[in-house]
Parts: sequence; structure tokens; C-alpha cells
Amino acid sequence: MHTIRKIGSRKRIALVAHDHKKAELIEWAVYNKTALARHELIATGTTGKLLEEKLDRPVKKMLSGPLGGDQQIGAMIAEGKIDILIFFWDPMEAQPHDSDVKALLRLGVAWNILLACDRATADFVLTSPLMQEEYETIIPDYT
Ligand code: PGA
Repeated sequence: MHTIRKIGSRKRIALVAHDHKKAELIEWAVYNKTALARHELIATGTTGKLLEEKLDRPVKKMLSGPLGGDQQIGAMIAEGKIDILIFFWDPMEAQPHDSDVKALLRLGVAWNILLACDRATADFVLTSPLMQEEYETIIPDYT
């Protein structure tokens, strides 16, 4: 048994970047501004503020990652409110909220959402023909 979750053609995309990866995420988002314009953006606090400035559009901002923003995004994934997570985490530096980072990645996989942790994968996700279509996600049954 498994559950189907329907994703609309307008996707709800969460964006999160650790401090040393923020410049890379912002550059990627600015480069892909037109493609991103068709979708709803959600972000952790500081990432969201930067995105709003650089993209000149509203972004739903949660708390800053280390202060609970990662957990808020994780909860939204569990509630079916996020379709895609673009998460540029820093592979070179431990974070004060490493446990939250791990939890967020875990929920992304547990709920079978789109999860891109580097720029190459983010490029492939954003250019997929499925970005403009509705899609049925299969949620594995873990019981
Ligand atoms: P920030 O959070 O966007 O508020 O910096 C990112 C994170 O560290 O998870």
C-alpha cells in the first residue's frame, strides 16, 4: 500500500542555503528567475531575505535555519506543503544546527519530494518537463 500525493503545475519550492553556499544559490536563482517566476517560493529567513532582494518578488520567509527554520520547512514537507526542496548545504563545515539539517534531509526523502542539494541537480530539476505539469508522488508506506 502507498499513498498518492498530487503536485500541481505551480510548484511550491523551498530554498535553503548555508552561509558559504548562499552566493551560489542566489546566483542560480537569479539565472533561473524566469523559470522560478511560475512557482511559489518559500525559504529559511536569511536565504529568503536575500532572494526577495535579488529576485524582486515575494518569498515566504520562515525563521532563520539555525533558529528553527529548517524544522519549519521539514514540518511543511510532512504536511504536504512543499513540493521541491533546493538545499545547498555546506559539505565543508559543521553547522550548529546539524541535527536539524539531518532531520530536514531525512523528511525530504521520507516524503519522496524533489530534493536537490547541488547546483547540477537543481538545474536538472528546474528544466524537467514535469515542472509545468501536474504530478502524482508516491509516498512509501513505512508502517
Ligand atoms: P538561513 O538558514 O537562510 O536563515 O541562513 C539556512 C540554514 O542554515 O539552514
